[in-house]
Amino acid sequence: MTLTIDEMAAFCKRKAIVFPSCEIYGSMSGFFDLGPYGVEIANNIKQSWWKFFVLDREDVVGIDGSAVNSKILWEASGHVQNFADIMVHCTKCKEKYRADVLVEDVLKLHTEGMNAEQLDAQIRKNNIKCTKCDSVLGAAAPFNMMFETYAGIKSPESLCYLRPETAQLIFANFRLVYDSARMKLPFGIAQIGKAFRNEIAPRNFLFRAREFEQMEIEYFIHPDMESECPCINEVIHDTLNIFSEAHQKNSAKPESMSVKEILLKKVMLPWHAYWMCMMLRWFTSLGAKSERFRCRQHVKEELSHYAKDTWDLEYEFPFGWKELQGMANRRDFDLKQHMQFSGKDLCLFDEKKKEKFIPYVVCEPSQGVGRAMLVFLFDAYEYDHKRENVVLKLSPKLAPFKAAVFPLLSNRPELVEKARQVFDSLKASLRVFFDDSGSIGRRYARQDEIGTPFCITVDFQTLQDGTVTVRNRDSTVQERILAIDLKSKLLKGLV
Ligand code: ATP
Repeated sequence: MTLTIDEMAAFCKRKAIVFPSCEIYGSMSGFFDLGPYGVEIANNIKQSWWKFFVLDREDVVGIDGSAVNSKILWEASGHVQNFADIMVHCTKCKEKYRADVLVEDVLKLHTEGMNAEQLDAQIRKNNIKCTKCDSVLGAAAPFNMMFETYAGIKSPESLCYLRPETAQLIFANFRLVYDSARMKLPFGIAQIGKAFRNEIAPRNFLFRAREFEQMEIEYFIHPDMESECPCINEVIHDTLNIFSEAHQKNSAKPESMSVKEILLKKVMLPWHAYWMCMMLRWFTSLGAKSERFRCRQHVKEELSHYAKDTWDLEYEFPFGWKELQGMANRRDFDLKQHMQFSGKDLCLFDEKKKEKFIPYVVCEPSQGVGRAMLVFLFDAYEYDHKRENVVLKLSPKLAPFKAAVFPLLSNRPELVEKARQVFDSLKASLRVFFDDSGSIGRRYARQDEIGTPFCITVDFQTLQDGTVTVRNRDSTVQERILAIDLKSKLLKGLV
């Protein structure tokens, strides 16, 4: 991969995919607006995820929770007390840093699990200074990342929060969904929605934003089923690139292992292996390159207090291997907390054992739409030296337009009229683009750059025999086909 993240950000801005938010007023860092093509790509990602993980499965249902929530929800989840990064700031220029990131960057050392005192000690011992103005840094201290707001008149009682994750709405609604949707364990609740985190140092474009969308599933099981996954055979021959705690502690390289081997060697619980494979299948089914993914286990020091085991699906971004998706085994932590804080009974009843129990969340595949979008963009982006333009080889399922229609010459009304008819015949079933400005070469290049898989040209032969040329974005090969067959052929190849 030769493109840097800044070059990708510049490309996205140039092609109306993503812009820094509200730029005419000098945008705030960590906020982005999707442009006309970006909004289509993001919608396609979300729809495809929803189809793969909700509509096509019997054991997953969806919800869409509110983004503004009462304080007590986030007290119960532990976010009010613990959802903090450690911040240091420059005493002179006031630049702010995430202390763990700064120490890692400067000293090249792992900081997982280090608290404010330990990070501060590293900064003092190694005399780490402000990277902007070389001045002394202040004391490292926790900084809560939740955005506060008020429902009604501003007062301590009306304080509430913009949700920093979608997961808690799933836990809070668990019992209602279980009863009303008549679900049986094991089952999952999925959600796609906005999350807000007041990141100390947003950077790397969409990778670390302050407002982003998450796509998430909480998968509930009976606690007795923690080591048994009835659907594991569906993925038994899949392979995963494993980077376990043992690999990391022994400075070993990640290893490609089949699910069979993973289970035999007890590397992961079957549920984790299953959901990792499903997530990877979803990415690769949409054109992502499997060799750029690995599954990294959290080492003991970085495990969250609620997690028994956590694996991240990581992707090799141009700025290193980074988390694309977290997958924690949260057991009954969240439901227990919400039972305690709400006073409501969220237990289920085991008919066989004649006893109540709290279900476990054995896996919570959780990822950001923005990070997924970056993966698809990086894996699709190619500069074609022969064509002298970028070709965005997006899966047709993600491309903003499925086809573009051109009249060969824009100053010949008979061609323009015929091209309009072709366009009109397609637009109800497919997202298509009409373009009659500039040379054909320029029009092809514009579509290549936003990933349109097919360009359809109406020429003089069309007027005689009803055929058009269809140019393939990736091969540039042109085929002549009857205009009346376009819709069925394109639909077959695209959806
Ligand atoms: P990181 O360690 O990168 O801060 P995290 O472990 O805090 O991530 P989670 O709380 O597990 O992230 O959130 C689940 C997913 O939401 C992440 O894997 C990522 O895809 C996405 N996500 C989290 N924070 C951000 C952010 N600031 N900007 C964009 N996406 C994010």
